Amino acid sequence: MRTRVDAKFKRELNLFGSEDWSHCFHCGNCTAACPLSENAAMFPRKSLRAIQLGLKDQIISNPEPWLCYYCGDCSEKCPQGANPAELMMTLRRYLTSVYDWTGLSRLFYTKHWFEIVALVVLGLIVGLGLSIFNPNGIVYPLNADGGVKINEMFPIPMIHLGDMIMAAFVSFFLISNILHMWYRIILKPKVSVPFYSYFTELISLGYQFITQSKFSKCDTNGRKYWASHWLLMSGYTIMFVLVVGFLSFFQTEIIYSWYEPQRLLGYYATFGLLFGLTYVSVGRIKKSTEKAKFSLLSDWLFIILLFLTTLSGILVHFFRIYGLVELTYYMYVIHLAILVPMICVEVPFSKWSHLAYRPIAIYLLNLKKKAENRSLEANPQLAVN
Ligand code: SF4
Ligand code: SF4
Repeated sequence: MRTRVDAKFKRELNLFGSEDWSHCFHCGNCTAACPLSENAAMFPRKSLRAIQLGLKDQIISNPEPWLCYYCGDCSEKCPQGANPAELMMTLRRYLTSVYDWTGLSRLFYTKHWFEIVALVVLGLIVGLGLSIFNPNGIVYPLNADGGVKINEMFPIPMIHLGDMIMAAFVSFFLISNILHMWYRIILKPKVSVPFYSYFTELISLGYQFITQSKFSKCDTNGRKYWASHWLLMSGYTIMFVLVVGFLSFFQTEIIYSWYEPQRLLGYYATFGLLFGLTYVSVGRIKKSTEKAKFSLLSDWLFIILLFLTTLSGILVHFFRIYGLVELTYYMYVIHLAILVPMICVEVPFSKWSHLAYRPIAIYLLNLKKKAENRSLEANPQLAVN
């Protein structure tokens, strides 16, 4: 592939966060300190070098920034204060904007007010839509067990239709962005991947997505990053799947006993979310670790929206159980007015997309390795060169 230098790339990248990387003088301390860097993927110094040389295409076709979990070890060891950990985060924001063909990610990351406007407008549409066009409105009769009949207040077909539209919207944009990511990493640089590898590497993709096992390598010096990250990640994945895919199973008229799967899954997801969010928020407020020192508005929006969604969901649950009809009604409207914009904006275009891009990046990197191995088998002299 022809190497193209883009002199404006450094300025473009600065729009997405860190600017300290220009102090780097390539001592290599960061790569030596990184628990995740290895021969096959030597970051973050390699990325720094590519940025300083203006090698934009090389950065775009490289999935390595997604292998970084922002433990901060590299920034602690950098003698120049170049902050390579924050640079990797900046690269992930930039790459998210590259994969997103609509241009919305770029707007959200570079003009923060745009993301807030999108969230508020969508929230108002959902809130007012539910309040004005809901034919049932506040329904007073309660269940035999004294709980609020939530599915009579908000007609099930209406909620299901809205749910399906949201699922289709999110899936379309997220999947098309992932295909664009594949195009930029594999297809455009003409990486010749053995066809069967697309299937054999799926097992590792599923394993990485479920376990996030690579992050456990950052648990050195008594740190417990993996556990808190996994609780948060599994909490919001379960909640996302229940809300988007299985609403009729999750939101029923019957108030089930605490040991039924609907409630147990809901309680687990709520616990995971609250624990993970508290851990992350306290860290960012105290700024006591490298990974928590720098926060853009997009980082806080993600935390605040998730927290408000969880809190309003908990309130709906208890208002409903205790038969508080009006409070259930209004809190349900507020809950959806936060949840729907959060999912529609954050999952395909902003911070939540990391959940998909990270394991996919590991998958694509494994495909690249398979392609390299095959080419080495066919041309052993390349190994020597
Ligand atoms: S430790 Fe700092 S100066 Fe050294 S290569 Fe890494 S970023 Fe550059
Ligand atoms: S933040 Fe941690 S995982 Fe990321 S590059 Fe630095 S040392 Fe490696």
